[in-house]
Amino acid sequence: MLLEITGLDAHYGRIRALSSVDVAVGEGELVAIVGANGAGKTTLLRTLSGVHPASAGTIRFDGGDITRLSAHARVAAGIVQVPEGRQLFGPLSVEDNLRLGAFRRRHRPEEDLGRVYAMFPALGQRRRQPAGTLSGGQQQMVAMGRALMANPRLLLLDEPSMGLAPLLVAEIFKAVQALKEQGTTILLVEQNATAALAIADRAYVLETGSVTLRGTGAALLADEGVRQAYLGL
Ligand code: ATP
Repeated sequence: MLLEITGLDAHYGRIRALSSVDVAVGEGELVAIVGANGAGKTTLLRTLSGVHPASAGTIRFDGGDITRLSAHARVAAGIVQVPEGRQLFGPLSVEDNLRLGAFRRRHRPEEDLGRVYAMFPALGQRRRQPAGTLSGGQQQMVAMGRALMANPRLLLLDEPSMGLAPLLVAEIFKAVQALKEQGTTILLVEQNATAALAIADRAYVLETGSVTLRGTGAALLADEGVRQAYLGL
């Protein structure tokens, strides 16, 4: 496994947000974490990227223990997060936002820019436009493109469909699937369980800080309990 989380606990003061969480992601896999508001999905990503400390358990990445590594050391190791709410530099152009993703890398980013524009043609057409003037879906594409510019070994996506109209949600999930097909390893955190399970190789259901179910995306989509609790079916 590329990523192996075992027995992970995380707290906010005395509030326990994660309890003994086990999650694994293999090279090239698309794994989803689904769960209701407040289940601990964002906390799991924050603990993974190193901006929130683990209070117990271990995180192993590419064979090494990264549980106590700083956030920037994890980025250097290849764990790159697309944050919830995109967090772009609105006045800067689309292309400048994308170039910021490559700041750590020494080589020239032209080739990577080409790959991002091939994946998101709408961005190529708007490369000189201030990112803040784009639609929500296009801004999500910039945020994903910026993360790709860092050439991640593991891409963490936090609620990419948040706040988007259904048509754009479909477009974003198609893009996530295309990234996976090009070989990117992805951990996707989503409240939109239907869309996430439909494209995930495997998934975990998180409830009040614990993993209560795990399986292939298809198996969880068909699971009666999941359908009632998360899919509104
Ligand atoms: P959302 O979909 O709202 O992002 P989530 O599944 O990502 O939900 P978390 O944000 O990880 O859930 O929250 C998990 C638990 O930790 C919740 O009970 C939440 O109230 C609590 N929590 C989150 N952030 C803080 C904080 N900064 N201080 C105190 N408690 C927090």
